[in-house]
Amino acid sequence: MIFSNIYKKIYKEIKKYPNIVIARHIGADPDALGSQFALRELIKNKFPKKQVYAIGNPSSRFKFMGILDKIDEIDKENTLLIVLDTPDIKRIDSVHLDDYKHIIKIDHHPFVEKFASIELIEDSASSTCQLIIEFLLKNHLKFDDSVAKNLYLGVISDTGRFMHNYTSKRTFELITILLEKSNIDFTSLYEPLYMRPLSEVRFQGYILENMTVTDNGVAYIKITEEMLKEFDVDSASAGNIISDLKCVSEILIWIFLTEDKKSNLIRANIRSRGPIINEIAAIYGGGGHKFASGARLTSWSQADNLIKDLDNTSEKYIEEINAE
Ligand code: AMP
Repeated sequence: MIFSNIYKKIYKEIKKYPNIVIARHIGADPDALGSQFALRELIKNKFPKKQVYAIGNPSSRFKFMGILDKIDEIDKENTLLIVLDTPDIKRIDSVHLDDYKHIIKIDHHPFVEKFASIELIEDSASSTCQLIIEFLLKNHLKFDDSVAKNLYLGVISDTGRFMHNYTSKRTFELITILLEKSNIDFTSLYEPLYMRPLSEVRFQGYILENMTVTDNGVAYIKITEEMLKEFDVDSASAGNIISDLKCVSEILIWIFLTEDKKSNLIRANIRSRGPIINEIAAIYGGGGHKFASGARLTSWSQADNLIKDLDNTSEKYIEEINAE
């Protein structure tokens, strides 16, 4: 019931402001983009006179989902900022919070810090797109097929086609309503979502062949810039591949460490099918969900420490399972 009220409260806030800016986390993914584009269209359809902007760095891979906006000037008093799918300030893309006086957060990550006056956090929801579907239903908003497509893509992507934890009965209920109330050909959406170049598939083959697997079921690989060049892939490629290791019996935690010399960091993608990993990621300045986390590391020695910590976590998890 509390949640129902907050959805209405957010709608009332949206109604108040002539300008709405919708932001999300760095490293745009389909849930972040899908929720952003869908919310932009929902607001524009309901309030055609409002200026609504979806902002952030674009992702060439997901450009089929929509086009992002640029804002020249911000009128602090008359603008509402809505931050989607982002639990902490440092991960918000292209926003200086000081430029905004009125802020709302809508997120499904575990709570990290408060930065908005209204925060809708539902960390048991599969995705931010799921929360946007709740929002549009609770407020009886009409939506077109482009909204339905983006919301579907976001849910599909964050749930790994209804496989990952936090896919719930409610996820299916909401998707059913979305499909009943729209005319989208949902099976046709998988191709653009999962299309990737052969170079990335070959790179995946290399990772699978060459990753190390410890006795405690931790798989990891260090990916240097030279390797990325050799396979003609970019630093985001590991993130596109990581979920494919979910069902390997010898592996409980898997970590891809990718060098990004331009940003002077090492990107860690971490996944688990048992041990809780976001607490370890947080020690390294990262975070995320219990079983899907990430971090930005500053050196290979820090990466080694992260591997060690996750290996210990996995060892403890195995001991606990065996003791049961
Ligand atoms: P990724 O491996 O990039 O797909 O990220 C998996 C999850 O971890 C997502 O929920 C991200 O929001 C979160 N995450 C990734 N990198 C970071 C980071 N540097 N700091 C905090 N959370 C992160």
